[in-house]
Amino acid sequence: MTDFDAVVAGAGISGLTVAWRLHRAGLRVAVLDALGRPGGAIGTARVSGALAESGPNSMLETSPLIGELIADLGLAGERLEADPAAKKRFILRGGRLLPVPMSPPAFFATPLFSVATKLALLREPFIGRWRGPGEESLADFVRRRLGREFLDYAINPFVAGVYAGDPERLSVRAAFPRLAELEQKYGSLIRGAVLGARERRANPEKSKQAAGMISFREGMQTLTDAIVARLAPVETGARVSGFRREADGGFVVSASSAAGPWTASARALVLAMPADATAAVLAPGAPDAAAALRAIEYPPVASVVTLYRRDRVAHPLDGFGFLVPAVERRRILGTIFSSTLFPNRAPAGHVLLTTFVGGLRQPELAREDETAIAANVRAELEALVGASGEPAMVRVTRWPRAIPQYELGHLERVERIAAVEAAQPGLFLCANWRGGISVGDCIKSAYACAERVAAHVAAA
Ligand SMILES: Cc1cc2nc3c(=O)[nH]c(=O)nc-3n(C[C@H](O)[C@H](O)[C@H](O)COP(=O)(O)OP(=O)(O)OC[C@H]3O[C@@H](n4cnc5c(N)ncnc54)[C@H](O)[C@@H]3O)c2cc1C
Repeated sequence: MTDFDAVVAGAGISGLTVAWRLHRAGLRVAVLDALGRPGGAIGTARVSGALAESGPNSMLETSPLIGELIADLGLAGERLEADPAAKKRFILRGGRLLPVPMSPPAFFATPLFSVATKLALLREPFIGRWRGPGEESLADFVRRRLGREFLDYAINPFVAGVYAGDPERLSVRAAFPRLAELEQKYGSLIRGAVLGARERRANPEKSKQAAGMISFREGMQTLTDAIVARLAPVETGARVSGFRREADGGFVVSASSAAGPWTASARALVLAMPADATAAVLAPGAPDAAAALRAIEYPPVASVVTLYRRDRVAHPLDGFGFLVPAVERRRILGTIFSSTLFPNRAPAGHVLLTTFVGGLRQPELAREDETAIAANVRAELEALVGASGEPAMVRVTRWPRAIPQYELGHLERVERIAAVEAAQPGLFLCANWRGGISVGDCIKSAYACAERVAAHVAAA
């Protein structure tokens, strides 16, 4: 039986980053993934001369660790900054795409919000802190501080864009900890934005609003491919199914693959997999943690990449893209203008759009067959950006369990799950169901996890 310092189960960005950091620290690491390809949610393909992302289109550089990882992998020359034109964003209101106001004067001039909502923003500094017991939903937080319209036309579409989720169900503390912190620290979001500016400038960690948006010349998969290429072979098609403990504190890890059963011993085991897969591995020894993991909701999302001839799309596509509030009653969550965001995404004379369908709002739409999903997106793009005729290319990716929802009770669930790490020294859990769902947050969590794993192995 092969002996490793650590076995990492799951070759998404979380597991790969942990494995890479351990490899750099001189540890012997095995990485396994249940699917036939590594990368998890990250996947890029060249189709009809376009660069299609089936998962994330970009990431925010919220921490110096992200640049450090990119440099360490020798990818600095591959890095691509978002085009400045993508600073502008649109929200659908009354069937029209209205620019999101980016400055106080623009906010007071925008037709996106009524005068009442604009005045509510002026009142926000005078609304007291939340002092209730338990947890507050994001929707209640926003209604309390900024009013109903702000929830409907700013927060609801934003949450659809980030989580494919529902603000009524998300916990403000778990899903948007900075908002809750700003309120608790400064008593107001606006006061926090103004008074906290100097503190934020001094902090190398950037807020999601301040961080630069990046990808790579050949797309997001460049990052995961680079890690895979530098590690010993990542075992794909190998589903980790369980482990047993040895008398000396080590693990014997089992996996199944087409080639037959796989077993190895290791000082540490990192489960970097979605919550349901982690629950399946933990259930025999830790039923409570498994139950808490299974309670984390993952709605389905379909991501649909369409390539159109430029002259077939009426809208100037002069921004990052648009988001759709639920109250507008459309059949998509939003669209990224991918070839505006990174101009090398489409062949000359064409534009590339990436549209998201489903989420908690309309899960049934993401479960339709690919032809129906493509037809829905085509009809919606015709209505919203004037995209006419057959697209030159359509690529549908269905994610049956797309993004974990940090709902009310999430922090308590994560505590119950994390108890298994204390009970089983050498077992580490690191994936996007804790510590943030963005690629950048996954990288940060993975750096911290790798440090804990290395310390454990050194002490073992
Ligand atoms: C459609 C979509 C769009 C997104 N857009 C953005 C964006 O624009 N910007 C951004 O920052 N983030 C975005 N995200 C979120 C971000 O991409 C993910 O949260 C992140 O990539 C998750 O990484 P992970 O490694 O934690 O999990 P995953 O990528 O889910 O990786 C987990 C891996 O575990 C493997 N696995 C499962 N079971 C087992 C088992 N038993 N044994 C071994 N392996 C197993 C899986 O096959 C998978 O490869 C998006 C996500 C989706 C789905």
